[in-house]
Amino acid sequence: MSAQKVQVKEIQLLINNQDVSTENYVEVRDPGRLTDVVGRVAQARVEHVNEAVEAAHAAFQTWRHTSLDERLAVLYKIEYLLKEEATELAATLSRENGVLYSTSLGEIDMAVRAIQATVKNVKSFFEPVIKEDGDSWVSVEKRPIGVIAGIIPWNAPMVLTMQKVAPAIVTGNTLVMKPSPNSPMGVSMILKKVASFLPPGVINVIHGDAEVGSALNKHRLVRKISFTGGGQIAKYIMKDAADSLKNVHFELGGNDPAIVLNDADIDDIIPKIVGSAFRRSGQVCFAIKRVYVPETLYDIFYEKICQFVSQYKIGHGLDERATFAPVNNKNQYDSVNKLIERIKNSNAQLVQLGEKLEPENWDNGYYIQPAVVRDVDPKQEIVTCEQFGPIIPLVSYRNEEEVVNMANDTEYGLGSSIWTSNFERGLRIARQIEAGMTFINGAGQSHLGYESMPFGGVKQSGIGRENSDIGLVEFIEYHAINYHK
Ligand code: NAD
Repeated sequence: MSAQKVQVKEIQLLINNQDVSTENYVEVRDPGRLTDVVGRVAQARVEHVNEAVEAAHAAFQTWRHTSLDERLAVLYKIEYLLKEEATELAATLSRENGVLYSTSLGEIDMAVRAIQATVKNVKSFFEPVIKEDGDSWVSVEKRPIGVIAGIIPWNAPMVLTMQKVAPAIVTGNTLVMKPSPNSPMGVSMILKKVASFLPPGVINVIHGDAEVGSALNKHRLVRKISFTGGGQIAKYIMKDAADSLKNVHFELGGNDPAIVLNDADIDDIIPKIVGSAFRRSGQVCFAIKRVYVPETLYDIFYEKICQFVSQYKIGHGLDERATFAPVNNKNQYDSVNKLIERIKNSNAQLVQLGEKLEPENWDNGYYIQPAVVRDVDPKQEIVTCEQFGPIIPLVSYRNEEEVVNMANDTEYGLGSSIWTSNFERGLRIARQIEAGMTFINGAGQSHLGYESMPFGGVKQSGIGRENSDIGLVEFIEYHAINYHK
């Protein structure tokens, strides 16, 4: 896969299955080659938001009455489409997002799995719930909600889009999707094809940032906002949603602790811990963001993790030699670099490692060498913030009670992980962690986990859950009917 060829794609809004051009287009640049424009994206005005919501509302009146089989047939088509288009789509995703080509392919595979899991879970989800005694009959039915606003971030746009689109439409809702301005192209191209499998208006796509998002939040015909992104924007959304008392579903940031126990096999777990922390150059909501290491293992752990990280080859996402890619955008780049400077000015020690594949292009992209930080104060910013970049802090601890308290001393509560050779001990500690998910000896869902685990966080990491049969609940209303005999 070459980083040289650049084809500039133009993306329009999609309203009622029509391409809608606007007077304002924003460029998308390649995060690994800032001189390359890879796309131009039509920006919506508030009028476009209104048109998109009205189209979705009109489509809802018939889509809500379609059969489950009809809706499932659309999911099968999306699954096929994603598999068919994976190669070209992955190149677009890498170009706009900066991530490695293999990571983009993996993301598309996860999007496929999101659809397959939805198909599997939805059948039992709609089993009728009927109770009856001598006096009466009760049916608890599940109905679609109406127009859903799906707002997504840039970091894993395809899978995060499909985790909303599949459950929303299979439960009979219609959608207005708003991708992030920092990676709008791949999802828009796919959603346009997905929309063509559906009656006009079932899926609409608008582009823009806060103004467009806010118009969507406030629209009275939007019945629910399903948002994945940062906590600050979630607070604006909640305020906007209050006026029309609409429901919100939030998948937000995390500051996931990894607790290494003293019985863990360090050589085995270091690649897994680093693999989680530095997936997408650290830009994953449930990446490991802080590692707690027993004081007796601290020095050897530090030495071995540095050895591992130093093997990374940092380059363009489409460069086959690269194993580590740039970060996505300027805000990200600036905030991570400033954080690195502040750490360097503290008592902690930070080393940046890995080989620069094309040093001559280093300043023409958002390249940051991965960093390991030792001798960190547990209350230091790099431990308490969501760094969302390639910096991994190692915190030393003395005993289980102390490490559990440190892990829970945060407003975040998305994922977490325990690393041990003793499952019972890992489980006992896992049960004390304040998080939506705890992984033992892994930092992501297994196959079964992806299908059956509700994904989401506690405290300020989210409201509600995505994935599994529990995630489907976000997209329905209950309607209870009671017949008095
Ligand atoms: P962000 O919150 O800045 O933006 C997310 C989306 O919100 C974008 O589409 C943006 O245009 C839109 N937006 C901005 N202002 C808005 C407003 N007033 N109303 C409505 N929408 C508005 O997040 P980001 O920088 O794109 O993504 C990074 C964050 O997302 C991190 O905190 C990360 O942890 C989180 N995230 C969470 C999950 C999860 O599943 N829990 C997954 C991925 C990313």
